[in-house]
Amino acid sequence: MEDDCSLCHRRRMEGTEYCPHHQRAFKNLEEKYVSWEKALGIDWIEFLGRVSVMKETGVWAREVAASQLKESRKQGRPVHPS
Ligand SMILES: [Zn+2]
Repeated sequence: MEDDCSLCHRRRMEGTEYCPHHQRAFKNLEEKYVSWEKALGIDWIEFLGRVSVMKETGVWAREVAASQLKESRKQGRPVHPS
């Protein structure tokens, strides 16, 4: 379905590719990345790679991280949320 979240079958939020659950997880990842980037100097792809395998990462966030990672690799560059 056109209106489905790209990760599940819930309806996506307007202007995003995710449902409210995945969108919230995505926002959390973005915020987390800002502090990780400052502290560790890692890039978006490396960050996604790490959080997507961390036990501490919630299920929603892991799904988002994995899909962002796939997308970034497919495009050959980080799809960084600016
Ligand atoms: Zn979803």
